[in-house]
Amino acid sequence: MARERLYLFDTTLRDGAQTNGVDFTLADKVAIAQMLDALGIDYVEGGYPGANPTDTEFFASDHHLKTKFTAFGMTRRPGRSASNDPGLAALLEAKADAICFVAKSWDYHVRVALETTDEENVASIRDSVRAARAKGREVLLDCEHFFDGYKANPAYALACAKAAYDEGARWVVLCDTNGGTLPHEIEAIVGAVVKAIPGDHVGIHAHNDTEQAVANSFAAVRAGARQIQGTLNGLGERCGNANLVSIIPTLKLKPEFAGKFDIGVSDAQMKKLAQVSHALDERLNRGSDRHAPYVGESAFATKAGIHASAIAKEPATYEHVAPESVGNKRKVLVSEQAGRSNVLAELERIGLKVNKDDPRIGRLLELVKERETIGYAYEAADASFELLARRTLGTVPDYFDVTQFDINVEQRDNAKGERVTVTMAVVKVKVGDDNMISAAEGNGPVNALDLALRKDLGKYQKYIEGLSLTDYRVRILNGGTEAVTRVLIESEDESGERWTTIGVSPNIIEASFQALMDSIIYKLVKSGAPA
Ligand SMILES: [Zn+2]
Repeated sequence: MARERLYLFDTTLRDGAQTNGVDFTLADKVAIAQMLDALGIDYVEGGYPGANPTDTEFFASDHHLKTKFTAFGMTRRPGRSASNDPGLAALLEAKADAICFVAKSWDYHVRVALETTDEENVASIRDSVRAARAKGREVLLDCEHFFDGYKANPAYALACAKAAYDEGARWVVLCDTNGGTLPHEIEAIVGAVVKAIPGDHVGIHAHNDTEQAVANSFAAVRAGARQIQGTLNGLGERCGNANLVSIIPTLKLKPEFAGKFDIGVSDAQMKKLAQVSHALDERLNRGSDRHAPYVGESAFATKAGIHASAIAKEPATYEHVAPESVGNKRKVLVSEQAGRSNVLAELERIGLKVNKDDPRIGRLLELVKERETIGYAYEAADASFELLARRTLGTVPDYFDVTQFDINVEQRDNAKGERVTVTMAVVKVKVGDDNMISAAEGNGPVNALDLALRKDLGKYQKYIEGLSLTDYRVRILNGGTEAVTRVLIESEDESGERWTTIGVSPNIIEASFQALMDSIIYKLVKSGAPA
């Protein structure tokens, strides 16, 4: 049986931009659009030309994308003609392949919010679709509050959708604008709509207010809809939009959908999914959700010993899909509960070849347990575990020594009479026979120490140029008589690879120093820096 084409529409740059605390610059928008284009998304909605300077500028030039670049805007205002509406005119002038209009389809909203008649609202839909078609654009109509509207007045909600379809709109998109509709309701209502409008012209736009936006999207597809709208990482106002990062692999990897549909994302493109998801978080300057389905760091992580030995033998026994298919990787957590099989599986994953009867493995396991008792948590610090393993197996060079460091924190009034806190770190490093001194100011002691440490490592400096810290987390542990501090540092390099290192000490600076050193040494090992 020939598979049907199912289309993906991304609205990260329009609906996703409504997220609290998200404010895309023009450069962000261009970069994200290129990323979505490379991923194979069919439609990328760029924003609302005419509504703000960033969006207007974004739509003023051609971005040479393969995707259908889509402008979003309102249908003509009630009581005006299409040719005499400046908002509509700006939309029609935008450099876009498609135009997505939003219109009300709930009679209650038409009267109360729009303060017009049901008939005038339908006429506005018809005129707007016609005007955009006359400009040669592909047209979509987002039917706002469609499901609530349909429950209140099915004939009217359908009349709004049908008006757009009859005028030649390529897609009529049914929006669950407040996200309150449940999957079985979505399936029933979409099922009714596709009796009047062919399913290959019907789309679904779901919000996540009951945490079922993804399920609602699939319910609509089961009922016949053939376009799914969503955002990267489920970005969107309130609880977010349907998450395309979860939808794409489900469509491609689950037989119910994979057997029936083709989407624009190829297998090779899907291998970039984890990277795309993390790159968006990076741009938003926030940590990625470790527990995100498919792409989260923990999505394919296992802790218990019996599972780890089974995974090492046959991964498919415990994984619902192959982690590599979405660009993620399997991870066996090394923890207090871990057995020998966990450690062996992890050593294999990081590419350390050892005989499984090697006595040094027993020593490594002891070491991990000992250190976890005093506060280390290796399951959260993959790079520190790798270094510990390499050191126990005798393979980490002594690249350099930090012979001394000193951090000075000073609070005083500056020349303008303002109270300021100034931090400076001085680090003495010995690389081979060379002794180096570096000093740096930072916005705090750890930042100053980090900057001073990475300022001059002599012959190793070139290996760490691309290294940057992306996250720093501190936790105070109350074990025994005195509190100890656990520091986790996440780093990234020029290739986009991320790793986490750990330090534990009663002194926060000392704990941070350990984690910073592990991060630098891990990078040198990974880059193959000579001893
Ligand atoms: Zn929305």
